[in-house]
Amino acid sequence: ADSSAEEVTASYIETIGKSKINGFTTLSDEAINTAREIDSKGHEGPLAGVPIAIKENISTKGLSTTCSSKILQGYVPPYDAHVIEKLKEAGAVILGKTNMDEFAMGTSTESSYYGPTFNPWDMDRVPGGSSGGSAAVVAAGEVPVSLGSDTGGSVRCPAAYCGVVGIKPTYGCISRYGLISYANSLEQIGPLATNVADIANIMDVVAGYDNRDSTSINRENTYSDALKDDVKYMKIGVPEEYFGEGIDEKVEKAVWDSIAKFEDMGATYEKVSMPHTKYALASYYIIAMSEASSNLARFDGTRYGYRADGENWHVMASKTRAEGFGPEVKRRILLGTYALSAGYHDKYYLKALKVRTLVKQDFDKALANVDVLMGPTMPAPAFKIGEKIDDPLSLYLADVNTVPINLAGVPSISVPCGLSDGMPVGLQIIGKHFDENTIIRAAYSFE
Ligand code: GLN
Repeated sequence: ADSSAEEVTASYIETIGKSKINGFTTLSDEAINTAREIDSKGHEGPLAGVPIAIKENISTKGLSTTCSSKILQGYVPPYDAHVIEKLKEAGAVILGKTNMDEFAMGTSTESSYYGPTFNPWDMDRVPGGSSGGSAAVVAAGEVPVSLGSDTGGSVRCPAAYCGVVGIKPTYGCISRYGLISYANSLEQIGPLATNVADIANIMDVVAGYDNRDSTSINRENTYSDALKDDVKYMKIGVPEEYFGEGIDEKVEKAVWDSIAKFEDMGATYEKVSMPHTKYALASYYIIAMSEASSNLARFDGTRYGYRADGENWHVMASKTRAEGFGPEVKRRILLGTYALSAGYHDKYYLKALKVRTLVKQDFDKALANVDVLMGPTMPAPAFKIGEKIDDPLSLYLADVNTVPINLAGVPSISVPCGLSDGMPVGLQIIGKHFDENTIIRAAYSFE
């Protein structure tokens, strides 16, 4: 007989209780009750009784949402994000919140106020980031599906490092109402799961129009329609720039073996060139830090979260920010403020926007002749905890293959495609704007 939602939920909670990976930050004490209600209502809704974990930067009514930062300690949102409303309507059971890099600024989940999350494949290694908790808990079997957010790779990177599937949908596809902003012109919420079908089923629930996000696009789509084994005549473009300097040989091999598998299934491939890829990282970091410096101005101790003592408002706000933000967040606020300041604005911020247009044009051109682009999600597998912590630039470099996608706003999915020295490798499949169904079909046929 099928187990009840209550039994399923209880068994995941038991597994989480034994966890050693520090993936969850907060557990919901409502989960069992919600599951019981779903059982008594006879399992209504497409996700009835499905347990799900939510990244710490997505607002959940009554459940702590801190962006893994000291500055939001104690903050409990009075409302649900759009995606949470949708999940609840669909019958999903929210198990708890997951660890992340502070304010989603990172590639390793080491900058969290709650301490690092450990990669379940090797506890000495990072799970990737910034949605490291969301990927690790799925990989460890602590929850079947989760939500993360991806500003420059934060769903795809941890998916690749933890050997799970993760999608960054087209910009405008999923409402960000209730997502605490890091860099709004780049970010999207995206699901993570152990398989492509679960990703499509979550997308069917969370994607769609919402008038509370001005970038939300009104466009109907059924993602699960794409769950077909069929890549016959699919045209794949392989950007040579995605196999650049510093790429791990075994990652490279795993990706080419995967492309050969697509050929066996009836697809064809050609090499393509995306010449502005080498400028994408610089453009991304200027834009992301500039937007972050503006977005994070609201955290001053007045309205929510942590508040330091001070004899007047100015002292209180400045001490709150000095004590509440970690070093990476401060670095980005300072650099972003600098890039936006009078005299430097044209030289850095406007230049970065122009480069962004060139990167986007690379995608328009390449995707005009092929159905999808494929390459490694990350140039190398998960690194050791602490290995890059003192060298921010080496961390930023790991994002070389993921940030161009956010600059262009196109959709991209990472699927496990092999191992490098025992650690998972992710294949990145990139599509045209709003053509999630083609990348989902490719990923489904491949897995
Ligand atoms: N690693 C990138 C950064 O640090 C991407 C983060 C993200 O997608 N949120 O900005």
